[in-house]
Amino acid sequence: MTTILEVQQLHIHFPTSDRTVRAVDGIDIGIARSETLAVIGESGSGKSVLGLAVLGLLPVNCTVTGSVRYRGADLLTLPESELEKIRGRKIAWVPQNPAGSMNPSMTVGYQIGEPIALHVEKNRSIVRKKVLELLQFIRITPPEERIGSYPYSFSGGMLQRSLVAMGIAGLPEVLIADEPTKGIDIINRQAVSALLRVLREKGITLLIITHDLSFAQNLADRVAVMYSGRIMEIRERKSFFDGPLHPYAKGMLLSLPENGLHPISGKTRESDKYDGGCRFRFRCTYTMERCRAEPPLIALPDGSAVRCWLYD
Ligand code: SF4
Ligand code: MG
Repeated sequence: MTTILEVQQLHIHFPTSDRTVRAVDGIDIGIARSETLAVIGESGSGKSVLGLAVLGLLPVNCTVTGSVRYRGADLLTLPESELEKIRGRKIAWVPQNPAGSMNPSMTVGYQIGEPIALHVEKNRSIVRKKVLELLQFIRITPPEERIGSYPYSFSGGMLQRSLVAMGIAGLPEVLIADEPTKGIDIINRQAVSALLRVLREKGITLLIITHDLSFAQNLADRVAVMYSGRIMEIRERKSFFDGPLHPYAKGMLLSLPENGLHPISGKTRESDKYDGGCRFRFRCTYTMERCRAEPPLIALPDGSAVRCWLYD
């Protein structure tokens, strides 16, 4: 397996007036070519920030250390001119919030065609043909009629699918999708899931950032669970959903409707997070004396890893 993306010791901190928000706090993760990795976790766990780092799209007000290597090049230190050759072309992004992510004054067809014209093909009639194919692919039909539509005439689900089309229009090797099922109905969730599954079969490497566990379960090869800027568990999909190891991951699964909606008690408390202990210990039902020190990510014989003393 070739590793296409390698994140090493990544820390992304945002200084605020009274404290530092450690959005990502020491992440190591490799993604193999053609793999689908789902990064799951509740909001505020740092998963979107991780996605932005992989695209070199972090805001300027953060401090970053570590590396994010794509085919050996560190995306965190590449000059913008080099990053532009990768972003959209090699690594593309399906942003959160479909309604706010499209330009309301341009047709959907034009916006899907932009990355094609920028990265793949200049000839206008070929671009148009490719846009029509993409509209067909995302089942926005009839494409000849829809190509001239403006975003306001699309439903949330159609906009989300259009963003997927924009993401893949430049024929990227890696596609990062941030909460691609957020705020859309079940039918559209299934449509987006089917779309991404086709991309996976085409060999595109997918990094799916989601809080939607059933979506991850449908799509992923591996699952990484983030909590408070850290990876708590990383595991092959089937074993993960058959029985997660980390107490937080167990709690996440128990909070699903089919498991009786048992929410994890407590909330992430900023002040609890960085005192050197396990970041989950104030919510964990297994807490012990030892948890005052934070466990490392413990590698298990089957290739998975878990950050919890119970597995030491
Ligand atoms: Fe719970 Fe301790 Fe494991 Fe943290 S290390 S998840 S507090 S048992
Ligand atoms: Mg997010």
